[in-house]
Amino acid sequence: MGGALLFSSGGQELLRNDMNHPKEERTLVVLKPDAIQRGIIGEILSRFERVGLKIIGAKMMQPSQEHYHHHYENIGKMISRRGQKAFDVTLGLMTSGPVIAFVLEGIEAASLVRKMAGTTEPKSAQPGTIRGDYAHMSFAHADAHDVGVPNIIHASGDAEEAKAEIAHWFSESELFEYETVHERFTQTRK
Ligand code: ADP
Repeated sequence: MGGALLFSSGGQELLRNDMNHPKEERTLVVLKPDAIQRGIIGEILSRFERVGLKIIGAKMMQPSQEHYHHHYENIGKMISRRGQKAFDVTLGLMTSGPVIAFVLEGIEAASLVRKMAGTTEPKSAQPGTIRGDYAHMSFAHADAHDVGVPNIIHASGDAEEAKAEIAHWFSESELFEYETVHERFTQTRK
């Protein structure tokens, strides 16, 4: 698939690189039940809009245990990384209420969104990151109380993981194409 001609401006044709371009990525973001229940959806989402990431899919849902098992273990290999107990309490947290899933598109979007999300443990997440600014839980506290760490947001680990996660959460018909003004500044001009 070649780059699609989107518009011409001042006699200069601007081409948008298609999704085969290695740097233009899609990534999955899930606003967790704690974010929804705290009423901070707009604040979190506006951070992504502000940097120019493009929202190409969005939906509220309350997925099943099986859905999260596939997400966190089949794709994310969480049990080997974090242990069975962390996995179980995380499923408890995630199934406690509805979430909103988004697909974001942009240049190196997966690593960019991870940077904006901050590290997994809110206590260690840097100020300025979503987890650092909106939460303060530690692993030790979660462990002592047998609860999942409410850290506001899930973000795909990398572009490869994002592909598997997006296919799990969204159908092709739920993803949309349109043009944002930010794309005019990030496109390759030819
Ligand atoms: P991340 O979400 O940063 O990619 P992981 O995939 O390792 O991190 O873990 C998934 C989620 O499980 C975390 O975001 C957090 O909500 C929860 N979690 C991870 N480790 C623990 C733990 N030790 N105790 C409780 N919850 C945990």
